[in-house]
Formats: sequence, structure tokens, C-alpha cells
Amino acid sequence: MEQELTDLKNLDQQGLIRFVESLGQPAFRGRQILAWLYRPGVTDFFQMTDLAREFRAVLGRHARISRFTEPVVQQSRDGSAKFGFRLEDGFVIESVLIPDEDRNTLCVSSQAGCAMGCRFCMTGSMGFTRNLQPAEIVNQVCAVRDWMLEYDRGRLTNLVFMGMGEPLANLKNLLTALSILTEQRGLDFASRRITVSTCGLVPQMMELGQATDVNLAVSLHAADDVTRSRLMPVNDRYPLAELIEACKKFPMKKRQRIMFEYTMLAGINDSDETAEKLARLLRGVPSKINLLAMNATDNEEFRSPGRERMLRFQQILRRHGFSVFIRHSRGEDILAACGQLAGRHSSPPV
Ligand code: SF4
Repeated sequence: MEQELTDLKNLDQQGLIRFVESLGQPAFRGRQILAWLYRPGVTDFFQMTDLAREFRAVLGRHARISRFTEPVVQQSRDGSAKFGFRLEDGFVIESVLIPDEDRNTLCVSSQAGCAMGCRFCMTGSMGFTRNLQPAEIVNQVCAVRDWMLEYDRGRLTNLVFMGMGEPLANLKNLLTALSILTEQRGLDFASRRITVSTCGLVPQMMELGQATDVNLAVSLHAADDVTRSRLMPVNDRYPLAELIEACKKFPMKKRQRIMFEYTMLAGINDSDETAEKLARLLRGVPSKINLLAMNATDNEEFRSPGRERMLRFQQILRRHGFSVFIRHSRGEDILAACGQLAGRHSSPPV
């Protein structure tokens, strides 16, 4: 029977060290491999010229280097670009590149589909297919980096885990991917340039905070349990009081803040009273609040409240001393904005 090859991009530094040791090699070979794996253009062990020729041949018999090739790229009028990647089992996931004046942010997916069922989200309406492997998470970053190099689009500076899926429902693989993304010999991103977003899985939030220094974003979208449970079923498991308590305890560095995402929905969570309620709820949490307009999806139940209402909501929160920003949607014309990712340009295998 043919032996299954280990995809080395599923392993962080510690994993690579264990892997080379299982082949009878010293630990430093694992570090050497890591230093090659994420260099642009490296696809084969024979390019790893500081490894002995025989060892490279051994690697070829036991391991492989996966990568995403030929993404489907859709470019938006506003400069953002959506990448569709077909996984080896045929499912399609998406990442979105959002260029800005001083940064290039990639919105990364962590699962194929999502089980959380947030009512206003197209990914949620697809249901859950499977968790992404660490390699499938980091390969999104590698492929977009390579595309940017090829088309002279600058350098990736920031990563946000706000694509398809709930990252903390895939915590083990997420942590391995974060380790590869932040290792100096890996992709070498500073933790402060990475943000992981959650709909509010409280125990996993605390685990993330203990294991990494990355930024946390919380999708809040309501200021009371009745509204939040209606929009986000996860609220029945971890109601607001518990969620906010966990935010207060989340380990943070000086000046670090939790980013609260608040999608404004006309007539549902956009009133002055709700803004006051939100201010009371977030009192004492080092926070930054992003107000987002509802993007167009097939769901006609939810509409954007319009600019005036959003400004008024922002004003009330600001009066209470919060940092509040109205975020403009990017990539709406190519269904790349928040809540719109659904792998629409392709379908999973039958
Ligand atoms: S908003 Fe996020 S957590 Fe909720 S269903 Fe969509 S992808 Fe899943």
C-alpha cells in the first residue's frame, strides 16, 4: 500500500522538528526546512540546497509541500480582490485582499462553510462542510502573497480571520497556522498585525488569549440577549453577560483593545436606546467599535439603516467615550464583503 505523504505545511516549527526526528535527523533540520518552506517559489525539496542530497530524497519519499495554484480571482471596482481556491477534495474557499493607503489586509477563511448559523450571513446559510487544515489556512496567505509579487501589488501587511468559518471552532488547526504565520522562519507576521474574529465561543477565546498575542475581534451585533439570540444562535450557549465577562478577562498587552464588530440592521439593532444599552454593556472593556452597514445578500429580512442613523448611533457611543468607526464595505460588487462569502463561483463535488 502506498504510504500517505505528510504535508509539511501542516506542521509548525515544533511539528517539523518532531517529523525530522522521526526520520532519524537532528532537530535543526526541522528549522532548516521551515526556513525554506515559505520562500516564494519553493515547491520542491531539491531546492533546499543546504540539506544533504540523500536527506532530500528521503523527504521526497515521506513528505510533500502543498500549495494553492490557479486561484479564481475577481477584482472589485474599489481595488479589493476575491480569491477562490479549490481544495484537494473539491470544495472551494475564499479569501479577500483589501488594499488601503497604508496597508494590505488579507481576510482569511478558517473553515469550508460554517456551523454557527448567524442569520444575516451567507456563509452561515451554506452550512458546515469541514475544518481547514493548517496548510489550507497558510496556503491562502502564500498564494495571495505570490499573486501580489507577480502583479506588483505590494506586500501583505495584515491578516484578519474574518473569512468563511468560525476560526475558534477550528482552534487546534488555527493555533498551528498562527504559529507558522508568526514564526520568523515561517511567514514572519507580527502578532499585532493579525486579528482573529469570533462570534463568541467563550472557552476557546480564553485559550486563544493564553496561547497567542494576536488581536481579538468579537462579532457583537446586538446589545441584549433577545436580539442577539435571534441573530446569532451561539448567544444561547454563551449569552452576553458571559461573553463580556470573558472580554474583560481576555489577556491583552498595554494599549491593545478588543474590536467589536456591530452590523447595523434597520429597525432591529439601530435605535438610540440600543446605542445607550451598548454603551452600558461595554463599559470597562478596552474596546474599539466598528459599525458596519448590512451588505446585500439574498436575505431580504435585513436592511441597512442608512448613513444618518449610523452617524447618530456613532455619536451616542462617542459621547460615552468609545472609539467608534463607521466601516465602509469593500468588494460588495464581487460578493466579497462581510457576510457575503459563499464560494458562489464554484460548487463542491457531488
Ligand atoms: S458571521 Fe461568521 S460565525 Fe456567523 S455564520 Fe457567518 S461565518 Fe459563521
